[in-house]
Amino acid sequence: NDHLSEFDPDIAALLDAELHRQQSTLEMIASENFAPVAALEAQGSVLTNKYAEGYPGKRYYGGCEFVDQVETIAIDRLKQLFDAGYANVQPHSGATANAAALHAIATVGDTILGLDLANGGHLTHGMKLNFSGKLYNPIAYHVVPETGLVDMDEVRSLAHEHRPTVIIAGWSAYPRQLDFALFREIADEVGAKLWVDMAHFAGLVAAGLHPSPLPHAHIVTTTTHKTLGGPRGGAILTNDEDIAKKMRSAVFPGQQGGPLEHVIAAKAVAFKMALEPEFAERQQRTIEGAQILASRLLADDMTAAGVKVLTGGTDVHLVLVDLRDSELNGQQAEDRLHEAGITVNRNAVPNDPRPPMVTSGLRIGTPALATRGFGAEEFTEVADIIAAALQPGEVDLEGLRKRVTVLAERFPLYPDLVPFTS
Ligand code: PLP
Repeated sequence: NDHLSEFDPDIAALLDAELHRQQSTLEMIASENFAPVAALEAQGSVLTNKYAEGYPGKRYYGGCEFVDQVETIAIDRLKQLFDAGYANVQPHSGATANAAALHAIATVGDTILGLDLANGGHLTHGMKLNFSGKLYNPIAYHVVPETGLVDMDEVRSLAHEHRPTVIIAGWSAYPRQLDFALFREIADEVGAKLWVDMAHFAGLVAAGLHPSPLPHAHIVTTTTHKTLGGPRGGAILTNDEDIAKKMRSAVFPGQQGGPLEHVIAAKAVAFKMALEPEFAERQQRTIEGAQILASRLLADDMTAAGVKVLTGGTDVHLVLVDLRDSELNGQQAEDRLHEAGITVNRNAVPNDPRPPMVTSGLRIGTPALATRGFGAEEFTEVADIIAAALQPGEVDLEGLRKRVTVLAERFPLYPDLVPFTS
């Protein structure tokens, strides 16, 4: 018997502990979500055994007749979801999708212009220790300190000054929509290619609740596990035939060997789910939940506690909390919420006076709770629990934890999953 619980009880017990953690706490890390059981089943399948270097119909291995069909279905659904001409579903992650996108539209040593990491950008947008900062010549734009909004005047002036090959629009921590048309206008002025990284907000785009970058960008990358709600992975889209050819060879053989066909099967399942009306309704609750949280944190008692909301609200699935004037730093606030049963991550605010391991902010997201079924009523209660946890002085975290448990039990997560050990 080589079943997990028999062969490896240590790992089995840890998987069960993680299931219990997810079920009994409130997940509010903005980049996380809960993949549907159908996607977990597809990913935990025999497709993990299959080598399939190449693309459907053009593989370097035999026996690909079924994985070819799986990958073709995933590609077709992804194209339909975002109304895109070409899609690649092989990138193992968001970071590798981004590496392949840059490989497709730039040459090593070229200048790239992206949002500064401490202002909400991603590592792969030119951070100096990342491949994007080492292989390319990164220039960073910022947000306007007073408003928290991306400084499009700076984007334009840096673009004219440095003449980048690529301008990157996209973020990991930013609560507003970007003006893709303006980004494209600036890219055209300097002959740059526009790459949009929609990893965070792809689910909102798929639901029609956020403008699509596809009509404006030369190339678009995404993850499949954030708002999109699927398995951990990446994907690339474009409407440009020439760039499509380059992205294809940038992924394979440029960057990867065998694709993860079990993950691609799970991506196909998630794309099918994202095409259904319930998905749009879930994304609607996601945004509504973030807006409920933002308005609670903008109330007078929070202002008195030194808690602020960057940009004064949100249009997306997350809220950025500014704790520079609070008694708590990012680490302390994250720890308090953790004790109350709410998982978030601390996050640097622009011009953060504290080091990156401490920070003066929080990033709080609603996708996972919306997937769990939360609506306005539950998000109002969650917002109130968070507001109470961020008050100065002693806080009754045990009492808050009880309120969290009530919510978690009212919306069971993965109720049909059978633990490995009992
Ligand atoms: N792009 C953006 C905007 C992200 O926020 C992230 C992850 O946080 C990524 C790319 C990278 O995705 P992954 O963690 O799958 O490599």
